[in-house]
Formats: sequence, C-alpha cells, structure tokens
Amino acid sequence: MRPLTIIGNWKMNGSLAANQQLIEELLSSKDFLANLQGVRTGLCVPYPYLSQVSQLLAKSSIACGAQDVSDHPNGAYTGDVSAKMLQDFACQYVIVGHSERRQFHQEGDGLVARKAKACLQANITPIICVGETEAEHDDGKTLTVVRRQLQAVLDLLQGQIASCVIAYEPVWAIGTGKVPTPAQAQDVHRELRLQLAKFDDEAASKVAILYGGSLKPDNAKDLLAMPDIDGGLVGGASLNAKDFLALCQAC
Ligand code: 13P
Repeated sequence: MRPLTIIGNWKMNGSLAANQQLIEELLSSKDFLANLQGVRTGLCVPYPYLSQVSQLLAKSSIACGAQDVSDHPNGAYTGDVSAKMLQDFACQYVIVGHSERRQFHQEGDGLVARKAKACLQANITPIICVGETEAEHDDGKTLTVVRRQLQAVLDLLQGQIASCVIAYEPVWAIGTGKVPTPAQAQDVHRELRLQLAKFDDEAASKVAILYGGSLKPDNAKDLLAMPDIDGGLVGGASLNAKDFLALCQAC
C-alpha cells in the first residue's frame, strides 16, 4: 500500500505574520493532527520563509519543502539556490518542473530531470510535475505530453525513480476551478504508472503519483479514492488553514 501524500504548494504567497498564523492554526487542530496518522504531509514554501517554516514545523509530522532548485551544486548562478542549501533548512521535498516554471521560466524536460537528480543527490524527495496544457488536452495529446515529460526523468534518473514523487497537474485545471473527472485523472495516473513499470516494476508500485489542479475539500474525496491517485498537490486550498484542514479531513 502506498501512503497518502498531501503537499501544499504556497506558490508566491505568504508573509512572516500570515505563515505563522496559518501554521499555528494547523498545529492547534487536534482533528487535523489525528487525521494525519499514516498520511505524509508537507508545505512547499517560498525560499525566504524556509527558515521560519522549518522551525515552526520542526516538532510536527508536517514536512517542509521548497518550490524549485538549481541543477548545479554551487557556483556563479546568481539568484539560484542549490539542493544542498535547501538541505540546511531541513527541506524534505522540492517541487520540480511545475507548469508555472515550465511556462514562465522556459524550463524544459531535460532541465527538470537534472533538477530532480540534484534533489536526490542531497537526499531530498523531488516532486516531479507533469501535465498538459489546455490546447494539448483539446488536441487529445494528454498522454503523449505526460509520457514525454516522464520519460526525460526516467532516462536520467535510472534506478532512483523509487525515491521520487510524481504529480500529474493538468495545466488547464490549475487555479481555474476546472477538474478532470476522477476517471479521467485515474486514466492518466494509470498510464504514468504503466510507464514507470516498463522501467522498474517494483518502483512503479511504490512511487506516489499525486493529483494537482483545483483540488478542494469538496472534490478531493472522489479523486483520491481512485486506485492510482496517491494524494494531492494543493495550491489555493493550502493557503488557509480552514481549507487545508477540510481537504485533509476529506481524505
Ligand atoms: P490550485 O490548487 O490552486 O489549482 O494549484 C494547483 C497547483 O499548481 C499545485 O502545485
């Protein structure tokens, strides 16, 4: 059995005061903490807040994570942050290849794979995002796109795929309120797992494949009930304690 994994992606949101309030609210909810038994949870936050959030979460079962990483170990890369630096802040997860990075920072499949490799070298779990745009979806190209994105990672990571998390995030579902039906999402997740299995059967049965894109308390239960959907990567609903608690409770 794969453990359920719920990861919040705060994106470029938060402030010292708001973060503290949100995390204090989460940690003071007994129901929330009781529901976390056996569930892996984490919050991926903007770089400047890693120190604050990792300290606030230090004694809890919620992991701290980042939203991007450099593919280089160190050196003259102004503005970049290495996996080793993230390790200093007790980061357990890093999101790589989010569609907003692919779209606004022109990150290609090869770079995303190298970023995932940099995470693994620092003992950090990369959450590798794949997903098709609305135009690709409408053209019936969903599986072609996600297979291509995953294959680039498989080619580079070889035997290390069991240590990764994959997230299927249809770009057209992110922040839009549109969601695929549970059956549609399950079909994509199943294809991704079959692709992993061609490479490494045992790893395929272990790797968590998360769904992301307008995941909310009212649709989470049905999506996460699908056999190949192992949890969620949550944007908007991770930004306030009430929604995040409700979402975790729904699971
Ligand atoms: P929303 O949940 O806000 O649609 O964002 C999803 C996402 O991009 C998580 O990485």
